[in-house]
Amino acid sequence: MSLPSAQLLASLPLVLVIDDDLLMRSLLRRALEQEPYRVEEAENGEEGLEKFKVLSPDVVLLDAVMPDMSGFELCDQLQRMPRGTETPILMITGLTDEASVDRAYESGAIDYVTKPINWAVLRQRLRHLLLQVQERQRLEGLNSELRRLAAVDELTQVANRRAFDESLTQHWRSGLRGGEPLSLILCDIDYFKPYNDTYGHPAGDDCLKKVAQTLAQTVGRPTDLVARYGGEEFGILLPSTPFPGAVQVANKICEAVRSQHLPHQASMISEGVTLSCGVASLLPTPNETAEKLIVLADQALYQAKQQGRDRVVGLPPTPKV
Ligand code: GH3
Ligand code: MG
Ligand code: MG
Repeated sequence: MSLPSAQLLASLPLVLVIDDDLLMRSLLRRALEQEPYRVEEAENGEEGLEKFKVLSPDVVLLDAVMPDMSGFELCDQLQRMPRGTETPILMITGLTDEASVDRAYESGAIDYVTKPINWAVLRQRLRHLLLQVQERQRLEGLNSELRRLAAVDELTQVANRRAFDESLTQHWRSGLRGGEPLSLILCDIDYFKPYNDTYGHPAGDDCLKKVAQTLAQTVGRPTDLVARYGGEEFGILLPSTPFPGAVQVANKICEAVRSQHLPHQASMISEGVTLSCGVASLLPTPNETAEKLIVLADQALYQAKQQGRDRVVGLPPTPKV
């Protein structure tokens, strides 16, 4: 099935032509529209900057000599715009002296063609530039996917241990600067070994996914981080959150998991899956370490298990935060 023409048109690479000469713009438009390109025009630097901002073109064809703002100057300004360094600029110049060519490259143009235009050369240069852009976008996409994969736990799709460690270090450092408390909740599913023994490992994995999802949905602030800390343990980092607030979040989490009513017939304390949570808070200071926060939350979690599970235990910090 062929695409509707408007849709097809919108998918073509967009070339922004900036030239004060109307005839030149028309010639360029005519030549480019015979290729698979869309064309937009601007007749001076100011309009060029505006259209660049609004249209996000894939490539810019820029006349070097214009009355108000020279192409070199404009090229320099375009580079400073958002996406400026990612968008290739091809200079069109009648100036073939060495200084002008040097200036074109220095001001950030990726290439240049000279007037009178050799259309075959322009076509090929444009084609290569756009292929380079597409290749770079593809690699950037792959890179960001790799970065995501490196930070996400494959089973539960929440942050993994590595991302947790990085985030803890980062928030500890900003807590040192900003004087704000950092809180940590460590949660552990109760009687999870018997769960696996009863329902099987794949069902155990499924349960982990559901619990992770509930945690992610319950924890509200964009700076909060839910991570899979270990097998069936989750760590929740709450930056700029004092101890009472963190205890409140932990209680909310326990309740949210409880009210999921995931059947757990091998649990000694409930008919459903439950969590135990340990909460700790510290005001980052040079005398403390981020590891201390983990140790404290782990001690609190241990106490929650000791006291009968399905509960929150917090170790109130001294001094109070
Ligand atoms: P407690 O209430 O004291 O926490 O008891 P528990 O059985 O949950 O504790 P324990 O630490 O002894 O067992 C943790 C179990 O979690 C061990 C393993 O069977 C299970 N587990 C750890 N990672 C995974 C996983 O990725 N998938 C599944 N299905 N189970 C896991
Ligand atoms: Mg455990
Ligand atoms: Mg457990």
